[in-house]
Amino acid sequence: MKSANNNKKCPICKKSAEVKFQPFCSKRCADIDLGRWLKGSYVIPTEEAHTPEESDESDY
Ligand SMILES: [Zn+2]
Repeated sequence: MKSANNNKKCPICKKSAEVKFQPFCSKRCADIDLGRWLKGSYVIPTEEAHTPEESDESDY
């Protein structure tokens, strides 16, 4: 068998998708997509401000 998950492309930045974050390449892109539908669906006050990975955003 071959790794079938490696040929997918991230819908956000078009890089190769990471199996761990598929169909995205990274948590950042997953968050971007998540943020899009969250804003489109309903508003969460400051949910994202409580994420423990906020240091991850500083390398943006
Ligand atoms: Zn991406």
